[in-house]
Amino acid sequence: MFVAEDLQTVRERSRIEDVVGAVITLRPGGGGSLVGLCPFHDEKTPSFRVTPARGFYYCFGCGEGGDVIRFVERNQNVSFVEAVEYLAGRIGVQLRYTDDSGPRAEPGLRMKVLEANRLAAEFFEQQLRGPQAVAGRQFLDSRGFDQASAEHFGIGYAPKDGRALGEFLRKNKVEDDTMVKAGLVRENGGWDFFQGRLLWPIRDAGRSTLGFGARRLFDDDRLPAKYVNTPETVVYKKSTVLYGLDLARANIAKKNQAVVVEGYTDVMAAHLAGVDTAVASCGTAFGEEHARMLQRLVGSTDVRNGEVVFTFDGDAAGQAAALKVFKLESSFTTQTYVAVEPSGLDPCDLRIQQGDAALRELVGRRQPLYRFVMANVIAGFDLDRPDGRLQALRAAAPLLSSIRDASLVDGYLRDLAQMLGMDVNEVRREAGAQRRRATRRPEPAATAPDAPALIEVSRLPVPNPRDPRLEPERGTLRLMLRAPEMFAADWNGITAAHFTHPAYRAVFELLGAGDRTAPDWPHSLLGPDVDQVVERLIAELSVEDILREPTLAYAAEHTNQLRLLALSRQIDQVKSKLQRTNPVDEKAAYGKMFQELVALEAARKDLRAAIV
Ligand code: ZN
Repeated sequence: MFVAEDLQTVRERSRIEDVVGAVITLRPGGGGSLVGLCPFHDEKTPSFRVTPARGFYYCFGCGEGGDVIRFVERNQNVSFVEAVEYLAGRIGVQLRYTDDSGPRAEPGLRMKVLEANRLAAEFFEQQLRGPQAVAGRQFLDSRGFDQASAEHFGIGYAPKDGRALGEFLRKNKVEDDTMVKAGLVRENGGWDFFQGRLLWPIRDAGRSTLGFGARRLFDDDRLPAKYVNTPETVVYKKSTVLYGLDLARANIAKKNQAVVVEGYTDVMAAHLAGVDTAVASCGTAFGEEHARMLQRLVGSTDVRNGEVVFTFDGDAAGQAAALKVFKLESSFTTQTYVAVEPSGLDPCDLRIQQGDAALRELVGRRQPLYRFVMANVIAGFDLDRPDGRLQALRAAAPLLSSIRDASLVDGYLRDLAQMLGMDVNEVRREAGAQRRRATRRPEPAATAPDAPALIEVSRLPVPNPRDPRLEPERGTLRLMLRAPEMFAADWNGITAAHFTHPAYRAVFELLGAGDRTAPDWPHSLLGPDVDQVVERLIAELSVEDILREPTLAYAAEHTNQLRLLALSRQIDQVKSKLQRTNPVDEKAAYGKMFQELVALEAARKDLRAAIV
């Protein structure tokens, strides 16, 4: 984690309206707030509000909300630490790290590497225009990309001489150590990592260059692989980078759709053809981490709304790839689709041979992934014969038993029954038997946790903001957030017991324990460990309209309301107990309770009088 003052500096100096404003257009929305179209869900009228004075954003449409750090986390799909690093880089703050969070990359290395990458991308782009890069330009031309497209995607060329990049970076004051750690220069001998190759810059959603993908151009290339990527660095992790994300991110959020293709040229072709939600994994198969990233980008409040479309070849390799993704599907809550081109052309070739419209149609023809996989599995059996159908069923049933989301299974069962031409109950029986066999075997240790940190998990229910019975609790918290100085040091004696809704109680517990005199109240309370629902409530209560000028009297009014409600609950409890107590057999207990009731009623009467 970071030194506390640094974190505070980043919070204070990062203007939320600028950070959000770089992603969506904000317009004045009255009361010092700004409004815009939510980047996290699809909407036509703006319900996304930013309140610069309070440093919070909140969407009244989908409930997404938080501070500027949270916005970066969500918008760029990064961790809390990375979001703070990004913001620090933006405003030029050098972060210091405490080492209690275990071994960490050296301070500032991430920023140094990003800067080296930025310079390298610039250098490579320039080189592509030079006389040496004819082969690179010819390749692009042969794949249907003109100069404007090459510039749009920032394509570059690494010269063959093997020292040019290192020299360029040195001239731009990049340390040798940083070049090596960025994976741009080899440690032994100081040779450029990429030589004589065509390069695609791989960026994050915020357009920082994380690394490069490089294609072989020359027969005398010492690296035999057709494609080579930046090795793993502090910023480049192949399991979490997606090529095209910088260009696709906003469209993915807007359309609740992501299209996954296989290569750099496929991403380019897709975007140029109008499929502007296309991304590809780089130098590795599409995996769980990628699935989670896309899920976060595609997902709206209704997770069933989004779709992730994979394009595969119809051939055996494509079928195997589809099966692999199907096994990942546990990590998708969105619907997963597959778009198969019958001619076997990849998106790039399809665009060259049949034009942009053909590529858009390919995506338009998508079918649910599970149907594609099941159809492939049963294709090898003779469905005209009863034993063939049974064998096909036995082959396909394990697919069904691997689906974790029980609500989907029934639909899949029906589809499978239809494909096989069998009775749905027979199919259900077989799948059930398979599932029982599968669960009897001990599960292998999970390699990835079921609830990864990036997916929002909260056990707290979300309160209905318009529930009149909860308004005193909500109103009190709103005041505590917006005008803590209107309360006495002990928060007017309010305790967690005054809150009936668990989420409100959790907010109170966080606020009540915090330092309300801190200049960045309540931001100082937020961090990666704060419950999502709690953080969103804090954001929501911080940006929503406040009904009256906060005064001491207003705060006292809220306090009394909470007390009154608590008293009434106590009275109800005692009354109910009294009813269950026999006044003759348990005379002493009854008398004591009766006394208690009288005292509580008197207190309530006094409180009521005080309120009026
Ligand atoms: Zn929203």
